Amino acid sequence: MDTIAALSTAPGAAGLGVIRISGDTALAVTCKVFRGGRLIPRRRVYGVLTNENGKEIDRPMAVYFPSPHSFTGEDVCELHCHGSPALLSMALEAVYAAGARPAKPGEYTKRAFLNGKLDLVQAEATGELIAAETEAAVRNAAALLGGALGRSLGGVYDELIALLARFRAAVDYPDEEIGEQDVPAMCGILRNAAARLDGLLRRSRTARAFTSGVDCAIIGRPNVGKSSLLNLLCGEDRAIVTAIPGTTRDVVETRVTVGGVPLRLHDTAGLRASDDPVERLGIQRAEAAAERASLVLLVLDGSEPLTREDFDAANRAKSAENCIIVLNKSDLSKGNIDVSALELSAPVVRISALTGAGFDELAAAIRRLYDAGGLRFDGDVVTSPRQLAAIGEAKDALERCAGALEAGMPVDMALTDAELALDRLAELFGRKAGEDVVEHIFEHFCVGK
Ligand code: GDP
Repeated sequence: MDTIAALSTAPGAAGLGVIRISGDTALAVTCKVFRGGRLIPRRRVYGVLTNENGKEIDRPMAVYFPSPHSFTGEDVCELHCHGSPALLSMALEAVYAAGARPAKPGEYTKRAFLNGKLDLVQAEATGELIAAETEAAVRNAAALLGGALGRSLGGVYDELIALLARFRAAVDYPDEEIGEQDVPAMCGILRNAAARLDGLLRRSRTARAFTSGVDCAIIGRPNVGKSSLLNLLCGEDRAIVTAIPGTTRDVVETRVTVGGVPLRLHDTAGLRASDDPVERLGIQRAEAAAERASLVLLVLDGSEPLTREDFDAANRAKSAENCIIVLNKSDLSKGNIDVSALELSAPVVRISALTGAGFDELAAAIRRLYDAGGLRFDGDVVTSPRQLAAIGEAKDALERCAGALEAGMPVDMALTDAELALDRLAELFGRKAGEDVVEHIFEHFCVGK
């Protein structure tokens, strides 16, 4: 492997900046630019950093990690310099002049994967750990980096390997005493494996709400009080509240935590037919936000009978994962309007966005939808779309396989789906993933890690 180098710390002025050099000639390159004590493995040594003309640049510490006991598995040297951007850029130039080349995005982690230091889930966890924004996300990514997923799914993987191996052996060596195929037992193993994958997927969906926030759209016809509700939830005036229909012309996004659930709130333009081109644009955006949202707050004016526009808004709410019907203006309404005609199976909460009455009930309704009580964030959830897709496909294939066996399909035909599930799980950890998948993942890392 040729020798690569990059800044491993964030750009910008800081106390320290770390340059990492990895590859066959890492030690030789480092010795050309760094003079001080002898580089003893894993010990920090103080010295002088010079450029190719012998001009002093800095007085850093250097550390040498001989192969294979390094992050990449190759010979690695680190230079712990002072953290001035100008200084670090000069130091990197000196390292490149001494024989290293600039590292590409994610190249260190890619080398660590190729050298068997990390599996693919751990490689992705490195990126997740660096990007983590919440305490739960940090804990979970750290556990994934430690191999938690490999340990929890390893059992499923091994059971499927054993099941398929037993079947192959029975087919290929009919003279051996391998025994009858016990189809009910096979179905038991397949269903159990599918249930474990399903549990992981369910936890992960709930966890996503807590690590990245729930996409939440506030929809309803003009003037029912959507902007007023947004203001109530945010506790401040973010959207202009007026009594003229159609004033909210764009989608306003705000992050708030309601009932302990982080929400990314989209206040959408009043959904109604309009001739005004600007307002029509706003309406299109509102519809797009409502389609993406996993939680829709459908606002109705509880003091008036339902209108055709209310029914239109309710129809849009039907595509969302979750919906809460918010009967607003409870301070004006005498009794409950009947929302059953909307044919929306969703909890109903009566509030007054004007006075704040009913806010706690709304918060409780949101909390009930996203109950994270059982989540530990110790590697028991995954957040990467690639991993979620692989686990979902494996689960579906296992269920198809069990269903086919139960319906009496010949075992060899049914088991093609178990093989597919195994392939997906193998891919998950990069055991068989094609070059394209690997390249795609590593391109999303930043240089220097
Ligand atoms: P939007 O068009 O759906 O965003 O509705 P707004 O939030 O702009 O509210 C429309 C009108 O209804 C404004 O005059 C608000 O003051 C009024 N309004 C909103 N919520 C309430 C409420 O709970 N009670 C009463 N009495 N008026 C409200």
